[in-house]
Amino acid sequence: MTSYKELGLVNTREMFAKAVAGGYAIPAFNFNTLEQMQAIVQAAVETKSPVIMQVSKGARNYANGTILRYMAQGAVEYAKELGCEKPQIVLHLDHGDSFELCKDCIDNGFSSVMFDGSSLPYEENIRITKQVVEYAHAHDVTVEAELGVLAGVEDEVASEVSHYTKPEEVVDFITRSGCDSLAISIGTSHGAYKFTPEQCTRDPKTGKLVPPPLAFDILHEIEKRLPGFPIVLHGSSSVPQDEVDTINAHGGKLPDAVGIPEEQLREASKSAVCKINIDSDSRLAMTAAIRKHFDEKPGDFDPRQYLKPARENMKKMYIHKIVEVLGSNNKL
Ligand SMILES: [Zn+2]
Repeated sequence: MTSYKELGLVNTREMFAKAVAGGYAIPAFNFNTLEQMQAIVQAAVETKSPVIMQVSKGARNYANGTILRYMAQGAVEYAKELGCEKPQIVLHLDHGDSFELCKDCIDNGFSSVMFDGSSLPYEENIRITKQVVEYAHAHDVTVEAELGVLAGVEDEVASEVSHYTKPEEVVDFITRSGCDSLAISIGTSHGAYKFTPEQCTRDPKTGKLVPPPLAFDILHEIEKRLPGFPIVLHGSSSVPQDEVDTINAHGGKLPDAVGIPEEQLREASKSAVCKINIDSDSRLAMTAAIRKHFDEKPGDFDPRQYLKPARENMKKMYIHKIVEVLGSNNKL
């Protein structure tokens, strides 16, 4: 048993309370490589932002749970070395699909876990979420739950259609499950192809796809029913067109990739939404830099030569999100 407290990590309780009161959102960046971790920590330290480093089941299988735990501890120590006296870093399980997986993460240094029972029948979702909450709270670990289904693909999590969260269910759900935060479905989506071209309109000037707007009416209805309760948005990458263009210009093939416009995420951050999940944008930033490097310098074969610009490009993206979209800078 390794408590996250021994690793210097924190749970989400205090940071969410501050974020809801302050009208900003905490960035939740997925990671599973050294370069992502370094870029996340550098960005968080330079902007003085709290940060959630999150790991899906697939990422845990890829990188190994033990290594990830020490990477999270390394992130805390690295932040201190970079001059941050009291780093606020959470190690979070993204889309836990069973009590056993959540327990295993809690036992191995995670400070926050998500149990995603959104595809289960309502009562079953409550039952397992509650079981996770009881174990987690006994170890001072916070729990994110989910109601409503997001469309898109993220590791093992996939759904073709989205089902918006029903506001009339949220009070009953959080009261009976005891969860600390709730992921809702209001039109965000997993992956780099969040919407099909048929779901979008086209900008007559640029010809680019314009996605359907988020369901802010549902978000506001949920906020009204759960005053001050922390809300989470998954699938909130914006799929920056310049990164997609760079990838496509250097041999990649990402036709019609489309994400959530940043101005909508900016608006959501000011509400009870206090955690915004960003994964695909980091993947795109890394891939764009590497493809460009390979194209321009075909003689390079030392991984540091192409991973360094990849790391720089991810860091630039993380800083942009923190400062220009979520507003979590200068909150340490
Ligand atoms: Zn997700």
